Amino acid sequence: MGQSGSSACPQVILMGLDSAGKSTLLARMLTGQVVTTSPTIGFNVGTLNLDKKTSLTVWDVGGQKSMRPNWRYYLDDCKALVFVVDSSDRERMPEAQKVLKKVLGEEKLRGVPLMVLANKKDVAKSMTIREVSTQLDLPSYKDRLWEIQACSGLEGLGLHQAFMSVNKLIKRS
Ligand code: GDP
Repeated sequence: MGQSGSSACPQVILMGLDSAGKSTLLARMLTGQVVTTSPTIGFNVGTLNLDKKTSLTVWDVGGQKSMRPNWRYYLDDCKALVFVVDSSDRERMPEAQKVLKKVLGEEKLRGVPLMVLANKKDVAKSMTIREVSTQLDLPSYKDRLWEIQACSGLEGLGLHQAFMSVNKLIKRS
């Protein structure tokens, strides 16, 4: 990874089921910037400049189905996991819960803070963050810092705030 070891720009992994809205959200945050795709592994990556002092390099490593065998190597310098869920899709919550649990079982992610983005909040009847939190079993994660925030990648709502919170979680961990 090009910037491994750089404490100035922490690495964040973006994950979630397919269609949760990861690429939409990353593209929205990177408006005006080029979203590059790593040629070796095909992940999207971009550096978010949140304010003068705050940048995060975000790797969109996709969801379970698109995970390449080598995705784990990208966890080495991971300072936070951002897990995106489609809060309008009740049916796939159990699947999201399983994937999240599996990912958090990775040794390399031990103690790494978690931000859950309850995406698609613009959709009428999307689940509340309390509902999403319960569905994903978040209260069971007692050995790491976690937070959940609602957002809409499509409209850009809540994104800046969410990634500023990710930065705060990294500083607290
Ligand atoms: P990915 O597979 O997680 O990268 O998901 P995409 O970013 O490709 O999004 C999947 C679909 O959900 C696309 O049709 C997006 O336009 C739509 N989508 C993404 N974010 C939002 C959102 O916040 N609100 C709504 N209504 N649709 C969204």
